Amino acid sequence: MKYGFAQRVRYMQSSAVRDILKVVNKGEVISFAGGLPDEDMFPVEAMRNAFHKALTAGDNKALQYGETEGHRPLRECLANRMKLKGIQRSSDHVLVTSGSQQAIDLFARVMFNPGDIVLTENPTYLAALQVFESYEVRVVPVVSDDDGMDLEDLEDKVKRLKPKCVYVVPTFSNPEGKMWSLERRKSLLNIAKKHQVVIFEDDPYGDIQFEGQGSYTPIAALDDENKYVLYTSTFSKTVAPALRIGWIVGPFQMIRMMAQAKQATDLHTNTLSQVAMVNLMNDFDLDGHIESLCHAYKERMLVMKDLLDSIQLEGLDYVEPRGGMFFWVRMPSHVNTAALLPQAVEKGVAFVPGSPFYVSNANESTLRLNFTHAKPELIEEGMRRLVAVINETRETVFPS
Ligand code: PMP
Repeated sequence: MKYGFAQRVRYMQSSAVRDILKVVNKGEVISFAGGLPDEDMFPVEAMRNAFHKALTAGDNKALQYGETEGHRPLRECLANRMKLKGIQRSSDHVLVTSGSQQAIDLFARVMFNPGDIVLTENPTYLAALQVFESYEVRVVPVVSDDDGMDLEDLEDKVKRLKPKCVYVVPTFSNPEGKMWSLERRKSLLNIAKKHQVVIFEDDPYGDIQFEGQGSYTPIAALDDENKYVLYTSTFSKTVAPALRIGWIVGPFQMIRMMAQAKQATDLHTNTLSQVAMVNLMNDFDLDGHIESLCHAYKERMLVMKDLLDSIQLEGLDYVEPRGGMFFWVRMPSHVNTAALLPQAVEKGVAFVPGSPFYVSNANESTLRLNFTHAKPELIEEGMRRLVAVINETRETVFPS
């Protein structure tokens, strides 16, 4: 049978991260590959109570179809949480989504015609690139440094290419673990205002902070007029990814259009998860839980950092993450990390090579390491294995 797939499937590729995960989930491999929280840190008892309460409320509403925009009490809780981040929006400006991933997809679905342009960092979040590519969008990278996008390159590309959107992960980014400076955030917003471009701020990691809560200002919080920024976040990293609860806030017209697209996609996000999430926020100290996550993950980050520091290799470089889940490591320029991966997996440790995260001009000597999934003892063992792989190949891969 010849299946007549649409032309756009040409642009769809399976994610390298997911393909690797399939392999490393089996066997004894210590994986630093996925962006996974630690299962032992899920608030299981509180979730059991929250779901129990949802199922025993007496009206069985938690098992019923719900509004596309989301369960109203959850939208209210989310609007309140957003206010604490300085994003002053009412619950009418909140759309509950099935994870942030769906927020990206719905946005792309209502915004882009084939050939439209989106500007991104380079590297950037792989699965956002997959979304953009599936809508036949032209993704153009902007030069960046440790503080964010290079403003000259950004403004030049905004003027010349007239993009519909600038997509950014400015807070503890995936994959670079990077934090944009406040100045760059303000400048990006000013450029967006000047040239009437939408900013899509993807912020799944913002609550995983190692320097205390409130150490950054979302770009959406600077957008007083609520005209230019769509902001998405999720409970995947702070509660549990299986809930599939994310949200997006932004200009009402855009939220309404995305809600229409969502009707056609899945009618609404899982009602039971949404009701349980409201119960969890009411009956459980979510912020205390997030604080203990930050504490545990910071400790793991520091364990990994010590072991990274022990690799005496000229040209190895990284920036210590101030939050989030990842180290982004630059190896000496003659090392191809994709070629290193099979040897690492054989030695029982996995990472993600950096190349798939790039839009173009991939730096093939980069790799991403997750430090939140494995416990500190496993991080030590995994890093010992990784260091051994690097040392073993030193002669051939790292000629002196
Ligand atoms: N954006 C970024 C930058 C991410 O890293 C992720 C998860 N890996 C998501 C969005 C999607 O998260 P979820 O759909 O689980 O909310």
